[in-house]
Amino acid sequence: MEGIIVPGMLAVVPFRRQASIGVIWELTEDSDLPSENVRDLSALGDVELMVPDELLQMVRHICRQYIATPGMVLKSALPPGTLTRRKLYFYPGPKDAARDLDSKTESLLSLIREEPGRWSYSDLAGIKGLDRAAVDTLVKSGVLLVSPFKAGGRTIPRGKERWINASLESTPESLKPGSNATKLLRALQEHSDGIPVGELRTLGFSTATAAALAKKGLAEYQWREKKLVEIGAMKSLPREDAVVLTLWQEAALTGIKSAIDSGKHRGFLLYGVTSSGKTQVYLEAVAHALSMGKSALVLVPEISLTPQIIARFERHLGNPPLVWHSHLSPTERAIVYRAASSGRARVIIGTRSAIFSPLRNLGLIVVDEEQDHSFKQDDPSPRYNARDVALERAKIIDATVVYGSATPSAEIYQMAKTGRLDLLTLPQRVAGFGPPRIELISTAFKTEPRPNEPPVFPRGFRPISEKLYQEITIRLKKREQIIILLNRRGYSSAVVCFDCGWVGKCPDCEIGWTYHKDRDRMVCHYCGKERRGPIACQRCGSLRLSFRSAGTQRLEETIRHLFPTGRAVRLDTDVAAGKWEARNVLDEFGRGKYQILFGTQMVAKGHHFPRVGLVGVISADIGLSLPDFRATERVMQLLTQAAGRAGRSSKRADPGNVMIQTFSPDNPIFDYLKSSDYLKFVEDELNIRQALGYPPFRRLILVMASSLEPARARQAIDEIKVELQSQAAENKIEILGPVESPIFKRGKLYRYQLLLKVPPEIIPADILGGITELPKKRKGISIRIDVDPVAFM
Ligand SMILES: [Zn+2]
Ligand SMILES: [Zn+2]
Repeated sequence: MEGIIVPGMLAVVPFRRQASIGVIWELTEDSDLPSENVRDLSALGDVELMVPDELLQMVRHICRQYIATPGMVLKSALPPGTLTRRKLYFYPGPKDAARDLDSKTESLLSLIREEPGRWSYSDLAGIKGLDRAAVDTLVKSGVLLVSPFKAGGRTIPRGKERWINASLESTPESLKPGSNATKLLRALQEHSDGIPVGELRTLGFSTATAAALAKKGLAEYQWREKKLVEIGAMKSLPREDAVVLTLWQEAALTGIKSAIDSGKHRGFLLYGVTSSGKTQVYLEAVAHALSMGKSALVLVPEISLTPQIIARFERHLGNPPLVWHSHLSPTERAIVYRAASSGRARVIIGTRSAIFSPLRNLGLIVVDEEQDHSFKQDDPSPRYNARDVALERAKIIDATVVYGSATPSAEIYQMAKTGRLDLLTLPQRVAGFGPPRIELISTAFKTEPRPNEPPVFPRGFRPISEKLYQEITIRLKKREQIIILLNRRGYSSAVVCFDCGWVGKCPDCEIGWTYHKDRDRMVCHYCGKERRGPIACQRCGSLRLSFRSAGTQRLEETIRHLFPTGRAVRLDTDVAAGKWEARNVLDEFGRGKYQILFGTQMVAKGHHFPRVGLVGVISADIGLSLPDFRATERVMQLLTQAAGRAGRSSKRADPGNVMIQTFSPDNPIFDYLKSSDYLKFVEDELNIRQALGYPPFRRLILVMASSLEPARARQAIDEIKVELQSQAAENKIEILGPVESPIFKRGKLYRYQLLLKVPPEIIPADILGGITELPKKRKGISIRIDVDPVAFM
């Protein structure tokens, strides 16, 4: 096998009577291990399933930055189960077979060469006269390679979808020349495979026209397996007509193209207000990378990976991109992995873990909606942030990286401000209308229910105000669509005033207090500071403190009661447990099946629904009480995103209305929102972050110790603190805590935590390496280290 082994290849090692699969991490002449622990490799893995050198470098980076073991990171990179599967399939290897093979072995070899990846040991055992030792010899000498995955087909099914085809004998005599029906029939005849019904609208046809053709017998419907991936399929759809770019889009694209051409690493922040056409810039940039012979990777948040965006890429490139996300089966992931590493696939669009896709000659990485928290993995380890890792990968291979957002995170914006990224701006909506009109509705002090009122929330809270009710009624009459966002992400133990929206906060950390009822104390979960629970609101003096839990279920009752004929659909994690269900609801809303879409933040993300004229926001300020230094930023981003859903039609000259109900209309957040000045918000937010020592000026690391017994967890966290204190001064580490975690008991475990603020240039592994050893010394303790945490609960 010598001579063909390179780091990153899969290899099989006999270990305790079983074969284990591993990744070759590095090649070395000798080993520190005792010789009885050293084994010969018994087989090498299929080369298309290897981890290329650039990815190995990225894996090392993740290990050091996020405190993870190589095994954990490689497990995330490779198709699920690669390292644990038992059955192995044979592929032809790089070495030539010896000349003097016997005829049985000869025929065995030709069998495998004819259908690589089809045969396993047990399949071959069924063939008469097979000599297992002969196979092992071929494997050992590198004539054959093994893989835990059977060679898949060339396509991946993703359920069924309805297509429409021209009938065989379809002469359009019965149709008016130039009518839509005639045009559609011609289009169908041009695409002999037919067109998916779901894509008719994007091609400029209505489903009604299709139905009329079918009724006349000129076309017919057909259910077909959806093809997620058709590797090597060419020109399945006509390319989208050339879109005329705005001057701003043109300028942004010129910058990105020249970076790709230069072959040197460069990074951009593409800041584009909602509806300014960021996706069009990505499409053109990806097409340019392909034309330069490079490949491209597009990372999107989980919820955004809708058929809508996949279809847009497909139409623009004339070829479907490969899709990579956590809902693919292991075999499907293996197909996608192989296609990327072999160079058969050159565009991948995917969620977080797609950063591990082994695309060859990668020239461009796009991270869309970079502020989205789904790019960060919370659990299990590795707790990496794909957004930040993307920059490292781009540096390793001298590629271009583009971060896109209408609401850039403080971290990425600061990089643009300090010149580490180039800032590209799309300041106007494509359709040329101004930003949506934003109106605040104060719901403070509104406690007296009207007679005959619909069901109300506890304590007289009415989810839908009179004003919002009137506007919804008007829009329904105009047959427009409406989105209603209930920002439910409140925190049930927060200290909030019902009447003015005041949120009690720790003065040092500027995060919401957590109220502990049993001992009547307010506690800060960053620094551990405590206060007696307040009796009255410190701003308006109201005695009505605590938190109203405004649920989507109650909102649903109200909406169905107030608008019995408006077809309404709810979207939140309760009704759409899986991401796919959410996509279905969104697609159906996009097709006009519903008039009102309401729910949690899932309704506000980057969807494009041209018929939405009104966005209503219930309890806009609710999220400000979270014990999280990003609480304000999150609310601001959510509201900006939600507002951007209104008025996206290119036909109606209406920028759309946004009505925001709030308990605290004087909160400065609404000034930024009303003036559509997101960057002013980030600038001010950065000043606060700098003053308080939060990211991007300091890096946060959350260290948690948990145990079945609270005392033992506490003892462990104290020990960790002592250990860290020894190097705190030298490395400028600030240690907050220990303190009970915001959710002190999760499952059967009690949890204590420390929050570290460290200089951004410190490599976490250098200061925290020793702590990971603690559970080995203390039984029953587990340690969780989260670098750059985005979730504090
Ligand atoms: Zn504090
Ligand atoms: Zn108050």
